[in-house]
Amino acid sequence: MNLRRGKGEGGRGRPERGKPGGGREKPGTQPRPRKRFGQHFLEAAWVTKIVDSLGASADDTFLEIGPGRGALTRPLAARAGRVIGIEIDRDLVGLLTGQQIPNLRVIESDFLDIDLAEALRDEPHPIRVVGNLPYNVSSPILFALLRAADGGRLFRDATLMLQKEVADRLIATPGHKEYGVLAIQVALIADVERVFTLPPGAFRPPPKVTSAVVRLRFRPPAVDVGDPKVFERIVRGVFLQRRKTLVNALKPVALILGRSAPELIEQAGLDPGQRPATLGIQQFARLSRASKSAT
Ligand code: SAM
Repeated sequence: MNLRRGKGEGGRGRPERGKPGGGREKPGTQPRPRKRFGQHFLEAAWVTKIVDSLGASADDTFLEIGPGRGALTRPLAARAGRVIGIEIDRDLVGLLTGQQIPNLRVIESDFLDIDLAEALRDEPHPIRVVGNLPYNVSSPILFALLRAADGGRLFRDATLMLQKEVADRLIATPGHKEYGVLAIQVALIADVERVFTLPPGAFRPPPKVTSAVVRLRFRPPAVDVGDPKVFERIVRGVFLQRRKTLVNALKPVALILGRSAPELIEQAGLDPGQRPATLGIQQFARLSRASKSAT
């Protein structure tokens, strides 16, 4: 069964032999942390705190993104019905499978290449997601989760450790400087909360930044956006020019959609002079629906 999308085996992010961080470790040795895979392993005290916050039960199936050496995986597997781990580093996959945890399935893959719906088709739904994310790819991983969540049918919730700055962007509300594409895409299909923050010392090796745990609870979209692709295009387009007024920020994307920005804004009942970062998802949805209605 081919679970990958686009790239095949040996795609993005695979260790290259002969390069630092590439090749296999000697059997029996603990693989060294690989910077290119964003490896910062969680210390025991914090593992307990995170696993407790999950309130896992035997009915739960978890998907862990980047299980690494299994710091979270082992205690989670002890409480949950089943754990599926997607790990890119083949040495860590070997380490995990060698631990012979009976209710653990490990998939060796780049999380960004996998077809999640296909890979998880035969697993009990909805699945709970957990991950101490590799910070270099945390935003694309988040977008992949948002695309796959299916209104809470595939993924019930996601408890994620992120760089604090990314967490701030995720939970930001209109009017705040961190508010933008990520917050809007998340708010559309999930309720989100910050669970706690973690100092660099919670990880080995410690990262240079503070981290935060956030929890997303997936649900059907909060509002009718018309065509979701148009909605995303409009949101991304105006935030490329977030310091301009709405009418000026909207011009390039309106042009691509074959519409005029003032006309769209009027149809959506918005103020052309307001800044994009003051618009909530309801207003962006009105712009998206307006652009569809006249085409
Ligand atoms: N869960 C472990 C822990 O908390 O100690 C490891 C967390 S570490 C921050 C990130 C993990 O994600 C590493 O095991 C790394 O190899 C893995 N990883 C990095 N990029 C990945 C990708 N694109 N797909 C799947 N796993 C990835």
